[in-house]
Amino acid sequence: MEENLRSGEIQGIFDNLRDCVSGPAGKAVGVTGELILGIDLGTTHSAVGAVESGFPILLADEEGRRIMPSAVWFGADGSVEAGRKALRRRSVEPGRVVTSVKRLMGRRHGEEREFCVPMERAADGGVTVLGRSPEEVSAEILKELKRIAEMRLERPAGKAVITVPAYFNDAQRAATKRAGELAGLEVVRILSEPTAAALAYGLDKLGDRSRVAVYDLGGGTFDLSVLEMQDGVFQVLATRGDTRLGGDDLDAALARHCAADFDTLDDAAKIRLTAEAERVKCALSERESETFRAPFYDGSRSLEVEVSRGDLEALAKPLIARSLTCCRQALSDAGIAAAELDAVVLVGGSTRIPAVRAAVAELFGREPDLSQHPDEAVALGATIQAGVLGGSLRKMVLLDVTPLSLGVETFGGLMNVIIPRNTTIPCKAGEMFTNAASGQASMRVRVLQGEREMARDNWELGNFEVPFEPMPKGQARVGVQFRIDENGILEVLARDVKTGRDTVVEIRNAAVDVDDAAVEKMVGESVEYAFDDMAERIFTEAKLKAEELLPAVDQALAMAAGLVSEDERREIGDAAEAVREALAAGLPNPLKAAVQRLDKATETLAAALVERAMEEALERRG
Ligand code: AMP
Repeated sequence: MEENLRSGEIQGIFDNLRDCVSGPAGKAVGVTGELILGIDLGTTHSAVGAVESGFPILLADEEGRRIMPSAVWFGADGSVEAGRKALRRRSVEPGRVVTSVKRLMGRRHGEEREFCVPMERAADGGVTVLGRSPEEVSAEILKELKRIAEMRLERPAGKAVITVPAYFNDAQRAATKRAGELAGLEVVRILSEPTAAALAYGLDKLGDRSRVAVYDLGGGTFDLSVLEMQDGVFQVLATRGDTRLGGDDLDAALARHCAADFDTLDDAAKIRLTAEAERVKCALSERESETFRAPFYDGSRSLEVEVSRGDLEALAKPLIARSLTCCRQALSDAGIAAAELDAVVLVGGSTRIPAVRAAVAELFGREPDLSQHPDEAVALGATIQAGVLGGSLRKMVLLDVTPLSLGVETFGGLMNVIIPRNTTIPCKAGEMFTNAASGQASMRVRVLQGEREMARDNWELGNFEVPFEPMPKGQARVGVQFRIDENGILEVLARDVKTGRDTVVEIRNAAVDVDDAAVEKMVGESVEYAFDDMAERIFTEAKLKAEELLPAVDQALAMAAGLVSEDERREIGDAAEAVREALAAGLPNPLKAAVQRLDKATETLAAALVERAMEEALERRG
């Protein structure tokens, strides 16, 4: 008999099957390679790099600066400037300079409450500022970085790796990619910032299976990521952050501390005081005290206040405490203790604050690693990844991902995903299945690829038969494990848990190497048919449940004399009738609701039957 698989709830024969693991990799070839830029598109600052003569380097602008403010000025006459020049215009035209646009990427209107310029609602529900979408504003920053790179390298650059925070969702990543395209850059990879920082930290410093925490406190955001590196491939185990925590908050707190009337001032005065607060804050990372000077900050009044490092630390204390809460949560999510980490890497400009370093050292019980330039590590990591993808750095790892989901067909013709789309390879994952019919002696495993809910709409990569000992329905245990190696070859293993017998099949065709157009078509169709697909899945699942429930209910009712009230008996009968009607009508949601009603209606009866069976068993024993 040939039956499909049924997914079971039991877990655990293969440990950590869902965890992605890594193996050796290294497909990069050639030394000259194609030019791909590495870009850190930061909230407050951005930077660009490239591999030159085999070395990853960051590229400086005409003034020799490798770090550029993420600021864009939109002039009344339609002209645009990005970077330092844009920021300089802020004291004159604050309403025309956009900063921290990264906060708006991929966001809906209303999600972000405060911003440096007024936010408007776009036709599609997104946000615009000064008539531009966040992607368009970010594109201006990217265009400036591209210009700097081309000026330094003296050749055109058309491709880039761009970093995003680990917590960015699909919409935010897609918006970042679009920004790159608007700037004339093909974005070959979106890389997560902690992975980039860890790449910059150096693969060679750590042994196999190392774990690092990356503590990133910038101007506007904080995040802590725990990464595991095995044979050179990084996996983000956990990430926690606060998108409203950074050096900017400390600047605002210090400005308020020095100028009691801060909240009553106009924007231009606030900007002047905040800029002075930032200067004093940075100076206090080096010195014990500094004078806060703001001559004629509102046109008439002036300020001169002596600020000690202790004053600043008192203001920083609650902010640092918030970051430490995220650290504890991330460690707990990753399921590891601070002592198990091999290193704690600090990145982001605000980690220069001595009190931050001390707090991190205390929490993690070790001195943090300061080898990275706090402002440059992420861009450097992006550049290393770009060099690997472009083929100009050898012996590095390609962080490849599965282009489409991989799974098996289960009972009712449903797709059961085992390795989701976009999983980093190499990887492995698995799930437990059981038999759908009594006495069944084998199962057919159909290996599928695609994003659709029904098995028939996905592509079949292969199929094979798994024999197992005949058992009553639902009692056989077959573990199915998918493993994709660094070359993209998929190996499917099925194990009969009872006998320990394995069936292993290697599937060479196209688990990873799928034509881009085909991937796009599959993903497009999954979106187009999402409603129909979901309805069919709901119907199929409810139908399976109904087919199991109806005969069981009939049987239970026949034995129910004296166990339930007449009202309950009537409700069960009505509920069962409603299920039969919904089945005949073929409507997913009414069927799901009817099955739920029947489930509920039989609760008391089921409990009473169990109780009676137990009493009978006890009587027999006694
Ligand atoms: P990032 O977003 O990583 O570029 O970090 C920018 C933040 O780092 C800003 O809030 C800066 O004021 C802050 N920062 C830069 N240098 C220092 C320093 N020496 N001491 C304290 N904070 C600094």
